[in-house]
Amino acid sequence: MISRIDLRGDALPEGGALRDLLPRAEFDVEAALEKVRPICEDVRHRGTAALIDCARRFDGVEITRVRVPDEALREALDGLDPAVRAALEESIRRARIVHREQRRTDVTTKVVPGGTVTERWVPVERVGLYVPGGLAVYPSSVVMNVVPAQEAGVTGIAVTSPPQKEFGGRPHPTILAACALLGVDEVYAAGGAQAIAMFAYGTEECLPVNLVTGPGNIYVASAKRLLKGRIGIDAEAGPTEIAVLADATADPEHVAADLISQAEHDTLAAAVLVTDSAELADAVDEALKRQVAATKHIERITEALGGRQSATVLVDGIDEGLTVVDAYGAEHLEIQTADASAVAARVRNAGAVFVGPWAPVSLGDYCAGSNHVLPTGGCACHSSGLSVQSFLRGIHVVDYSRDALAEVAHHVVTLAEAEDLPAHGAALKARFEWKVPQSK
Ligand code: NAD
Repeated sequence: MISRIDLRGDALPEGGALRDLLPRAEFDVEAALEKVRPICEDVRHRGTAALIDCARRFDGVEITRVRVPDEALREALDGLDPAVRAALEESIRRARIVHREQRRTDVTTKVVPGGTVTERWVPVERVGLYVPGGLAVYPSSVVMNVVPAQEAGVTGIAVTSPPQKEFGGRPHPTILAACALLGVDEVYAAGGAQAIAMFAYGTEECLPVNLVTGPGNIYVASAKRLLKGRIGIDAEAGPTEIAVLADATADPEHVAADLISQAEHDTLAAAVLVTDSAELADAVDEALKRQVAATKHIERITEALGGRQSATVLVDGIDEGLTVVDAYGAEHLEIQTADASAVAARVRNAGAVFVGPWAPVSLGDYCAGSNHVLPTGGCACHSSGLSVQSFLRGIHVVDYSRDALAEVAHHVVTLAEAEDLPAHGAALKARFEWKVPQSK
């Protein structure tokens, strides 16, 4: 069901060579640009009319407006199953506890007497949050996008999610209810690339935003790449990934269950087990067979586990295992080894790390308090998951007195001359009646 890569014996190859040996989904964002560009151009020029056409073409629904009316949000909340409401409220409560603590305070640094630089953190004014709704619907992604934006102090929050045929062309009611629970009333029924274009260019119904966040399929990721610059984006979150670093102490039933839990998202989802125990690998294989047969989404999971993006990787010891998981840079990394906290502390590249047997990825997907919008495809080596920080900009505020400027003016003039930019130096000389001492 899941292939094996045996890296035992020889020393591990370094850097890129090791990465190339590891499994990874085919997720060619660049290739999808060709398809996504005309969609985005259409939305740019025809606005709502283009979104309505896209809904018919890609979602198979007839809609007459894209903005979801307020009463539909209220109705969705009124109709929400009380148990789901309680679970969403707990998810929101925990996410708020964690994200509230992330808010950075402004820092003023006294560089010299009379000269200060302050880093002032200012929320982005208007954000567009994408909540996927193709194969599965993700009210949890509403929570994970909205809570950090609210905690950052963003005042303009718009949410979009694909229109659903069985719900009259509106996003899934649980998504609408989650928006209502969070106090978000600007919600759109648009999915895929066209939703990102709506946010970037604006339409008759939707004002343009400054920043778009949220995971999605290849069309969403590709549109984010295309429109980056006009809008800010978070990381290009693609198909989900779990890596489990485990030794002989791990419970194979837990490991198998956790691998399956992420494979359930998508046929392109990746499940990777890295272990120094061939016995554990065999036991996980057995457990996978048994557990997959009993799951609801058996076809999707079987394809994901059997795909080129999933594998069991055998290594010589946990140190090598750490090298492998760092090279892989998983979106979610579970550590199921002896002394898991110490092993987890050595991880360099991962979107989120789940420590020990009682912190499965499913907890992080919903109710740990952490964020589940995380970098995929190895982007964890340069990017972070969504946080309050994603919605803030740091503005440097420079405040110098006359004396503080005079003290350093000759250095500024010297550097300006070295760069052949004499007008830069002239800006200093003008303030001191051309009496700035030249470089010594
Ligand atoms: P989606 O909402 O991303 O995409 C659905 C939209 O794609 C549709 O509304 C449609 O407009 C568009 N589309 C479909 N086929 C198209 C085509 N042929 N051409 C142009 N547009 C087309 O939902 P999805 O497809 O289920 O993907 C969600 C992804 O998000 C999954 O890969 C899942 O693993 C991932 N995800 C990631 C995270 C994370 O934090 N990294 C969290 C949740 C979900």
